[in-house]
Amino acid sequence: MQKHNVLKRVARAKPNSSYSFLGEQIAPNSRKVVELTGTKLYTNSPLSIPIEVINGKYAGPVLMVNAAIHGDELNGVEIVRQMINAIDSAKMNGTLIMVPVVNVFGFIQKSRYLPDRRDLNRCFPGSEKGSLASRMAYTFFNEVALKCDYIIDIHTGAIHRTNLPQIRADLSKPDTLRLAEAFATPVIVDSPLRGGSLRSEAENKGLTVLTYEAGEALKFDPIAITAGINGIKRVMQAIGMVRKSRRKTPTSVVTRSTTWIRAEHDGILRTLVSLGDRVEKGQVLALINSPLGYVEVEVKANKRGIVIGQQTLPLVNEGDAVFHIAHFNEGEEHLNTVVEAFIDEINDAELDPITTGYLNAAVNPTT
Ligand SMILES: [Zn+2]
Repeated sequence: MQKHNVLKRVARAKPNSSYSFLGEQIAPNSRKVVELTGTKLYTNSPLSIPIEVINGKYAGPVLMVNAAIHGDELNGVEIVRQMINAIDSAKMNGTLIMVPVVNVFGFIQKSRYLPDRRDLNRCFPGSEKGSLASRMAYTFFNEVALKCDYIIDIHTGAIHRTNLPQIRADLSKPDTLRLAEAFATPVIVDSPLRGGSLRSEAENKGLTVLTYEAGEALKFDPIAITAGINGIKRVMQAIGMVRKSRRKTPTSVVTRSTTWIRAEHDGILRTLVSLGDRVEKGQVLALINSPLGYVEVEVKANKRGIVIGQQTLPLVNEGDAVFHIAHFNEGEEHLNTVVEAFIDEINDAELDPITTGYLNAAVNPTT
């Protein structure tokens, strides 16, 4: 044990070398904004993807944190902004590649998609001669993603749909499981790889990739942002980029089974549960009324679980997916502990001033 610690200290002290990225050299213990160019607007104005590269003083792995592959998913953009300010290259091992907005076209249009209506996250690894989406995917995948050892890809729910902070990852790989547990969202969804996504294609090339899903499109969710920053810092500790904190890592529960509960009627939706709530089989989760209130239809849980996603728009059509429920084998006590620990940690966090007001209202509605 003693010997192991000594070796670790020696490894920490190994000086870093310059990092070569998109034709630029980033010296150890420095940072640089680098533009990934290649795409243009109709006006012929270049449209580039801005990337901040932070090269640590000491040698270590390369981690990319990227957001807005879907252009309307904004929580990750704020997570990246806050992380860039929080990291001190003098205390860091390895290299951090921060990409706040991958889908710059969609971001400008406040849209999930690219101008050719394709979903960038179904187009990896892309091709040089393919569609606009496929070409963007190709460039980003080869010039940026494959330069990394680890990737954290940040997403949110769709418009009018919010997600409990959750990691989605292929837990059959031990390293991926270790990092998912280090990120420590209350729920980890063991999710098989989906062809064409950044996660799937980068995993196939031997990288370790976590997808962090939290909050809703086109909104800032302070809980999602804070939980994301905490999680990324813990992953950086786990892969030896920053010194380990003495704080205990919160526990998570892993789910391999989730179901969507759909509306069986059209009307006005009144929701009775929130993200993170535990629900029992048969429990009424929401009521659907006609506008004058004469019709009332119950939306019920099909199985015991935790609410990990829900519709925020109070209007539904028959067939709309209203709740996403994760199912577990764990006992009651463990599930309670996991959610309580998560809320405690968010309450204890030092918050960026932009988001403080929201969070107090969300976590502590009586004050
Ligand atoms: Zn997304």
